[in-house]
Amino acid sequence: IERTFSILKPDATQRNLTGGINALIEAAGLKIVAQKRIQMSLAEARRFYAVHKERPFFGELVEFMVSAPVVVQVLEGENAIAKYREVMGATNPAQAAEGTIRKQFALSVGENSVHGSDSADNAKLEIAQFFSENEII
Ligand code: ATP
Ligand code: MG
Repeated sequence: IERTFSILKPDATQRNLTGGINALIEAAGLKIVAQKRIQMSLAEARRFYAVHKERPFFGELVEFMVSAPVVVQVLEGENAIAKYREVMGATNPAQAAEGTIRKQFALSVGENSVHGSDSADNAKLEIAQFFSENEII
């Protein structure tokens, strides 16, 4: 049993897609074991995306992530990290497979509705940035 970290991004919360996305997450057999709606601060967004700080889209990405509330989640299940990446679909919704969250909901490569951890190490770090262990049940 594995845990991954998920964010329902501002474009999703602003279009009332929280429930629609959670339905796809749960249909895939992933359990939402922690969830809260927060307004990310600039400092939190910069820290969260620090690995991308040299990329040309870093500023745009950080601004987008603080532009409206997000829902942060911990998902649990067998191979949760890889499974959620599959459910999310490709970063660019134009390349996302049928039935994926991004195919169904994402607007563009920037406003792509969801984040999911890409490795076990990052999942641990990302979960710890937003949740304490006693909030994950
Ligand atoms: P995430 O990390 O959010 O789960 P990802 O792993 O599919 O998505 P990354 O390559 O890690 O994609 O990029 C992180 C995020 O940065 C993307 O989800 C997207 O919102 C944004 N991003 C990536 N490439 C671009 C781009 N070319 N222009 C604008 N934003 C981008
Ligand atoms: Mg990523």
